[in-house]
Amino acid sequence: MQSAQLGFNTFLCIMPIDVTTSERGRVAWKRKIQELADRGIQLGQLLEFYDLLGRGSVMPGFHPLRSTTNDVVRQAIIPLSAPRQMSGHGQAYASKLGHHGQPASRMVTHNWNNIFSHLVASVLADAFDVPSYAPFLLHLGERLPALRDELRRRGQMEVSYWICAFTVNQHASICGGFGPAPKGQEFLEWDRKRYDSVTGELYPLCRCATPKFFNADWDLTELNKFDPMMETVQQIWAFSFFLHLCSHAKPLYNPICGALDELTATWLGCHKWKICL
Ligand SMILES: [Zn+2]
Repeated sequence: MQSAQLGFNTFLCIMPIDVTTSERGRVAWKRKIQELADRGIQLGQLLEFYDLLGRGSVMPGFHPLRSTTNDVVRQAIIPLSAPRQMSGHGQAYASKLGHHGQPASRMVTHNWNNIFSHLVASVLADAFDVPSYAPFLLHLGERLPALRDELRRRGQMEVSYWICAFTVNQHASICGGFGPAPKGQEFLEWDRKRYDSVTGELYPLCRCATPKFFNADWDLTELNKFDPMMETVQQIWAFSFFLHLCSHAKPLYNPICGALDELTATWLGCHKWKICL
């Protein structure tokens, strides 16, 4: 696929010279891409996770109509994927579910500032192959058992999705902090993202000992490998592609998936492209 190769080469061109010329760096880079490609969360597991929210000690302040994906990542995904002992290492939520070696067959990209229930409803809309997630918001509140029965009947509960919030190891990057505070106008946005959208409480921080890798650790970080990971999966599977945009979405951007757009999907040769409204 010439266009995909062009994109991959373009990506490699911006790698630091010491990494591109280091055999050890290249091996680590490829290994990490394969690790990422092999993570996925099944629809049934996503619904089980959703059932946990707001119950017991799992994110007691969860509100289905107001809690954002960022709220859920900070207060449910990170705590549930943390090590038992803080001296240990955390995992991606999907890794904790034991999905090593099973690439996701569908990709979801989304904005962490959007409502989390809309993301889940969008996945349901994809599973039922309908263009809108709105009808499923009611199901998420009231009729999940009936919905599960229908999904089982359709063989959709085991369909595996790649959703960065679940498939990237948050403990290897953001779990212990919010990044350095920017100056100027960006400070307000940075500060807002430290607080729960519903309760207004400061997010708790994870104190695990997982080594952190950011852009300076180009070969090991999980935050810069979206494009080559997509190409890897696309070569193995007839990878479906599914884009989520909710009705009040800000321009699609998230720090892992980057500025993904229709052009990117075309370039990757994805055979299925969907915008769920
Ligand atoms: Zn952690």
